[in-house]
Amino acid sequence: MINKNKIFILASRPFAHASQENFKLIETDLPNLQDGQVLIKSKYISVDPYMRGKMSEAKSYTEPYKLNEPVSGAVIGEVIESKTSELNKGDMVKGNLNWQVYHVISPVNLTKLDSTVLPVSANLGVLGMPGLTAYFGLLDIGRPDLGETVVISGAAGAVGTTVGQIAKIMGCRVVGLTGTDDKTTYLKELGFDEAINYKTVSNLRKAIRNSCPQGVDIYFDNVGGEISDSVLFLINNFARIVLCGQISQYNVSRMPVGPRMQSIMLTRRALMQGFIVSDYKKHHDQALTIMKKWYNSERLKHKETILKGFENIPEAFFGLFRGDNIGKMIVEVE
Ligand code: NAP
Repeated sequence: MINKNKIFILASRPFAHASQENFKLIETDLPNLQDGQVLIKSKYISVDPYMRGKMSEAKSYTEPYKLNEPVSGAVIGEVIESKTSELNKGDMVKGNLNWQVYHVISPVNLTKLDSTVLPVSANLGVLGMPGLTAYFGLLDIGRPDLGETVVISGAAGAVGTTVGQIAKIMGCRVVGLTGTDDKTTYLKELGFDEAINYKTVSNLRKAIRNSCPQGVDIYFDNVGGEISDSVLFLINNFARIVLCGQISQYNVSRMPVGPRMQSIMLTRRALMQGFIVSDYKKHHDQALTIMKKWYNSERLKHKETILKGFENIPEAFFGLFRGDNIGKMIVEVE
C-alpha cells in the first residue's frame, strides 16, 4: 500500500543561475484513490529550459510557478491503479504533472501513449514538445527550400538535433553550432554537413562563413547572445530567422542593450519571428503522424541524456545550462 509521496516545490526564486536552494523536496501523505481517478507513478520526468522562465516572476507566455507550490512539467507515468474505465493498470500516460513520484488524479488531461513508440521516453523529446517545436519552427517560419543553408544554434540538444534532421529531409545544407567535440561528432553522425564547436573555435564568424559558402538562408536560433550575433552577419537576402529560444540569456540578471543587428536585417530584407510551440496546438497531431513515420523509418533519430533518481531532477535541470546533455535531458524515476 503506497501512502507517502515526494514532491519538489519552488522554495525561492533565482536571481541569476538557479541553484539547489530554489527547490525543496518535501514528503506528503498520498490521498486515497476516489472513483473516477487513477494512481500514476512517474517514470520519466522532462526538464526543459523554459522552466527557468517559470521560476521567475517576470511576465511571460505562461504563468510563473508559485512559491512553495509544486514545480511541474511534462511527465510520463504508469497507471498503478485505476478507478476509471478510461485507463487500465499498466497503461503508460503523459501529462503536464507536478514533480512528484505519485499522482492521484482524474485522467482528463492525460494522454495514453502509443505503445508502438519505443522507447516510451521519446514522447518527451523527438516525439514530444521539443520535436514539435523543431517541426513548426523550421517548416512554418523557416520555410526551407531545396539546397538552402540552415544554421542551428544549440544544435545538439532536443530541439536542435530534430531541426537539423528535418532540414536534411527537406534537402538543405545543415550546419550545427554546439559546445563540445563529442556533440559535433554526434551531429555529423546524424547527417549534419558541418558542426562547429563554438567554445573552442578561435573566430566563430569566420568558421561559420567557411561552413556556409552560399551564406545563411535560415538561422534557427536556440541560444541568442554572441553566437547569434556571429551568424546574423552572414545571412542572405530574404533570410528567415526562427527565434525559438535564447538560453544564453535566461540566467542573465541584466540584459545587454544595443540593436546592432537591425541594420543588417533591414538591408538584407530578413524576417525574424518568434514563436511558441503551443501556437500550433491544433496541428500537433497531424505533425506527430508525419514525425512518427520518419522516426519508425529511422530518418529521424534521437538521443537522450538520462539521470536516474527522482532526487536528481534539479541537477538535471541545472545541467541544461552547463551543456551536460546530448539530445533530450530526462530524469528516470526508479
Ligand atoms: P537543449 O538544447 O536540449 O539543452 C540546452 C542546451 O543549450 C545545452 O545542452 C547547451 O548545449 C546549450 N546552452 C546552454 N547554455 C548556453 C549558453 N549560455 N550559450 C550557448 N548554448 C548554451 O534544450 P531544448 O529543450 O532543445 O531547447 C533549446 C532551446 O529552444 C531553448 O532555448 C529553449 O528555451 C527553446 N525552446 C523553445 C520552444 C518554443 O516554443 N519557442 C520550445 C522548446 C524549447 P551546448 O553544449 O551546445 O552549449
